[in-house]
Amino acid sequence: MKTTWNFSAGPAILPKSVLEKAQHELLSYENSGMSVMELSHRSSLFQAIIDDAEAHLRQLMAIPDNYKVLFIQGGATLQFAAIPLNLLKDGKAGYIVSGSWGEKAYQEAEALIGDRAVILANTKENKHTLIPEVTEIPEGLDYVHITTNNTIEGTAYQTIPTFGDVPVVADMSSNILSANYNVSDFGLIYAGAQKNIGPAGVTIVIVREDLLQDTPGIPTMLDYKTYVSSGSMYNTPPTFAIYMAKLVFEWLIELGGVSEMVKTNQEKAGLLYQTIEESDFYQSPVQKEFRSLTNIPFTLTDDTLTKDFLKEAQERGFVNLKGHRSVGGMRASLYNAFPLEGVQELVAFMKEFEENRGAK
Ligand SMILES: *Cc1c(COP(=O)(O)O)cnc(C)c1O
Repeated sequence: MKTTWNFSAGPAILPKSVLEKAQHELLSYENSGMSVMELSHRSSLFQAIIDDAEAHLRQLMAIPDNYKVLFIQGGATLQFAAIPLNLLKDGKAGYIVSGSWGEKAYQEAEALIGDRAVILANTKENKHTLIPEVTEIPEGLDYVHITTNNTIEGTAYQTIPTFGDVPVVADMSSNILSANYNVSDFGLIYAGAQKNIGPAGVTIVIVREDLLQDTPGIPTMLDYKTYVSSGSMYNTPPTFAIYMAKLVFEWLIELGGVSEMVKTNQEKAGLLYQTIEESDFYQSPVQKEFRSLTNIPFTLTDDTLTKDFLKEAQERGFVNLKGHRSVGGMRASLYNAFPLEGVQELVAFMKEFEENRGAK
């Protein structure tokens, strides 16, 4: 089989050894004669899986005891609604819009809470090529929502802003476990699994206990307290997705945890950025100091060659390199599971393509 390097932004590449382990255990999990997919979520076998998944994540992110870990369906997108419904008190909700996902989060809040959702900064005019600096915020905010890594535009916060006592709520979907964060800098962290954690189907929410409140009138399955009081099993959880997340967490722990990932990710991203920078043939649309380590858009100075680049790349096994339709060009998503070797091969291909097609 030809090697395929999958640069997809999500659902994304998973560690090969994890897939092999899942394959090995697929028909009979722990000699039960049943697949994980066939286990009752009320069984002790599954209880151990979800308990381990939570314990591993707590270890990997050093999650303090006063934070709850929830496993929820509906993707990061459902959290755009759940967050205002659960966290708004008497005040307003602030949104820093630094990319398309942050804009969607704001729009969903606005649909639910109207003008109590306020935009604190919006980089749309700059095509979201930077992270805005917000130094002053209005009085009476119940939380400030940020996107730590902008999956589509390829920017990322390099330091997490603070706003006094106002909790920071972070959409970490595309760089959770790829960067070293201090959980206590946040009131709530959420992430859809399909970028850096596992297959689609489960979303992780990490929330500071004291922010949970009674929320009469909101749907049971949107209420964080439902998940807290039932151990994320009020109804049937996405059992297989949680199992896969557990395996990915084990893989991460074995490799040395998040700090090791950060090192490798810096090496991978550094190699690609260096290749882009060294040449006039390739360009990065993103301001240098805000570059993402996990999602790296780049363009060809001569855009008429983009189609050929993507076609040849595809033929060589570099798949899902096409940039998001709103940005164009290419995007290489280099999540934790993406190996350094794949980046080395990509930059070799890029140099070769430039030699063949660049101005002589
Ligand atoms: C992918 C992504 C989303 C949407 O996730 P779903 O799980 O598909 O709802 C939201 N925010 C960010 C930052 C993303 O990368």
